[in-house]
Amino acid sequence: MKKYVDVILPLPLAGGFTYALPDEVADKVVKGCRVVVPFGRKKFYTAIVYHVHYLCPTEYEVKEITAMLDEKPILLPLQFKFWQWIADYYLCTLGDVYKAALPSGLKIESETIVVYNPDFEADAPLSPKEQQLLDALSNDHEQSVTRLERETGMNAILTVVKQLLDKEAIHIKEELKRTYKPKMEARVRFAMEMSERQLNILFDLLKRSAKQEALLMKYIQLSGYHRGEMLEVSRQTLLQSTGASASALNALVDRKVFEIYHAEIGRLDNDSIKTGELHPLNTHQQEAYEQISQSFESKAVCLLHGVTASGKTEVYIHLIEEALRQGKQVLYLLPEIALTTQITVRLKRVFGNRLGIYHSKFPDAERVEIWQKQLSDSPYDIILGVRSSVFLPFSKLGLIIVDEEHENTYKQQDPAPRYNARNAAIVLAGMTGAKVLLGTATPSIETWYNATTGKYGLVKLTERYKEILLPEIIPVDCKELQRKKRMNGQFSPLLLQEVRESLERKEQVILFQNRRGFAPMIECRTCGWVPKCKNCDVSLTYHKGIGQLTCHYCGYTYLVPSSCPACQGVELVHRGFGTEKVEDDIKMIFPEATIARMDLDTTRTRTAYERIINDFEAGKTNILIGTQMVSKGLDFDHVSTVGILNADTMLNYPDFRAYERAFQLMAQVAGRAGRKNKRGRVILQTRNIDHPIIGQVMANDYEAMVCAQLAERKLFHYPPFTRLIYVFLKHKNEALLDEMATVMGGRLRATFGARVLGPDKPPVARVQTLFIRKIVLKIELEASMADARKLLLQIQREMIENPKYKSLVVYYDVDPM
Ligand code: ADP
Ligand code: ZN
Ligand code: ZN
Repeated sequence: MKKYVDVILPLPLAGGFTYALPDEVADKVVKGCRVVVPFGRKKFYTAIVYHVHYLCPTEYEVKEITAMLDEKPILLPLQFKFWQWIADYYLCTLGDVYKAALPSGLKIESETIVVYNPDFEADAPLSPKEQQLLDALSNDHEQSVTRLERETGMNAILTVVKQLLDKEAIHIKEELKRTYKPKMEARVRFAMEMSERQLNILFDLLKRSAKQEALLMKYIQLSGYHRGEMLEVSRQTLLQSTGASASALNALVDRKVFEIYHAEIGRLDNDSIKTGELHPLNTHQQEAYEQISQSFESKAVCLLHGVTASGKTEVYIHLIEEALRQGKQVLYLLPEIALTTQITVRLKRVFGNRLGIYHSKFPDAERVEIWQKQLSDSPYDIILGVRSSVFLPFSKLGLIIVDEEHENTYKQQDPAPRYNARNAAIVLAGMTGAKVLLGTATPSIETWYNATTGKYGLVKLTERYKEILLPEIIPVDCKELQRKKRMNGQFSPLLLQEVRESLERKEQVILFQNRRGFAPMIECRTCGWVPKCKNCDVSLTYHKGIGQLTCHYCGYTYLVPSSCPACQGVELVHRGFGTEKVEDDIKMIFPEATIARMDLDTTRTRTAYERIINDFEAGKTNILIGTQMVSKGLDFDHVSTVGILNADTMLNYPDFRAYERAFQLMAQVAGRAGRKNKRGRVILQTRNIDHPIIGQVMANDYEAMVCAQLAERKLFHYPPFTRLIYVFLKHKNEALLDEMATVMGGRLRATFGARVLGPDKPPVARVQTLFIRKIVLKIELEASMADARKLLLQIQREMIENPKYKSLVVYYDVDPM
């Protein structure tokens, strides 16, 4: 009987699609395997099989799959369940989830650009097809799969592309955009298998050349030969630790004792710096550890509310150790790539190469390797990663740690799936029976509510490790100072004095500038004209470093005009205080200080993050200026002053979470101040000195903030007392869009009544030439989300059935942040 498969395509399509299996692979293809399928005109995609059956569809003519890519599933059964939950809950398609979940190398399609790898050397002869494809690519080093297909006239080319990718003869273009250059290192190994006996003979032979003997001894020690290990040894380390010259080593290479090979540093590295030792916990930490373990006996999720630098990370490490002891895997989620460097060092020290790191600043090939390794018999026991690592395959997940659980970077904004990785992790844990620990100094209000109403466990750590005092927070009234003309640009006299004194004492300074609502712009001094994106309803951001204007929504870049197009004026001035401006001004005031800046622009690559953080840790930088990135859980030892340049942009942001976020940001960034034996100082500049949030930050009174916010949220029906769904509508034609938004708003109201607000114009009402309208839906917690979803999708379908409305784009943001 003919077999068929239902597949998930990497496209935002509602239904599944069915293909026929050619007889020769009919018995090999199973659920979770990838297959290449034709879709649309002449396009091919990598699809994932989720159902194998004998039912021939009748509504359309079934095509055959073009090729089978995997013998073994690359997706575990539980992952399908997880994907389905994401698609259902966040109102998107399985195709959307597929696109977010898999690294690019696992989902090649016709449009994928492949790139020639000039360093490739084949270990074994390539197949004729592989050779042909590589030849075609060697003429022009970057080509789309479609073009290669045309040029070679080959069928089923995706299979060949996959084979070449596996051999690393080619790469996927995407990864190369990330200006990541793998660092190669020369390493040393025995040129052949070496027995004890052979080794003894060798030592005899080398008796006369002390340097060579020393090299051999050292190599044996470094490689762990006597322990039966084969660790990698870098050429440089070997030479340095013996003081031997390169010629001594070369002599051994000539004698065929050693051979030199090249390997990429950091790439799934096995050179462990493991000591296996855990720091003993202090009494507070030990108590917290025990309370968490106890809470896990009755509850799946526990909140660890620990002040900054209370040593939460050490508690995590002990919990990880325990999970590993029970043979379980651990997923350690971080909100931001910037944080992985510091945590990696701390975890590697204890767990060595049982730890794998997964994030988007790594090249795609590496992510593919990790994915495959997690499916193998020897997966990493611990995965440290950002948002997308919830999608990795885990076979025996026991614990998920969500560090800095309050961070909004856990929520994916665009594109779909607009999921919150913290919440998804909790659901994933529910499916696998794993426990979840949420850690933070400033819990999100939702989590706090869940923890205090008994849904989650709650454990507190109120003492800083080694009793370092929390910093003293000094508010500065900028309104008053401005009136008296005493501000120096954006700096108050007190802040400048504190910075000066810290520098004199050789201590460090962090200056924090909130990014939100603060994009630097240019403006015509004469008429006030501000350049805007031609595709989107936003002012362009000015990047001084590259002398360009860019649109942060569509990525379009523009040259800075030499005169104002509105009035021909030539005085175009720089407005707003981005971090660049802060840096320029601080350089003028403290010319002798070394200053670094950490924001989206300076941290495009992995090495850039690491360099900024390492330099600051090592004391090479005196002043670090940054956006929210500097607030997130980084742990520095010599910071005595923190300056919050402007609290008001955070307080004035038009969002129901603005106060909560302002508190979290300020409390977190303040937590970076303070050194052993010395209390740090935070200078908090604001024009709203009497604002309750300012008082709560000064008193570090998280609970007062939560109480006040919860009361307001309850009164106005906001989360955690209701669930929010934003319905977005997009269209090219603004008048038609307004009409459609009104109609859809009416239909929603007919079903959901007063739970519907809007339609409204969102703050950014046009992106990439499409206009946008937003409708807000507030759903009671008791109401069935499944029913609400069904109704929503039905209304959407009815809308689009009207021929006039058929090009309307609708998408949803569930639990928006
Ligand atoms: P948090 O995650 O709560 O901000 P960390 O775990 O980063 O705090 O701890 C702050 C500092 O105190 C770190 O430098 C850490 O190494 C040190 N520390 C915390 N607990 C211990 C411990 N039990 N033994 C040794 N050092 C510790
Ligand atoms: Zn002008
Ligand atoms: Zn734009």
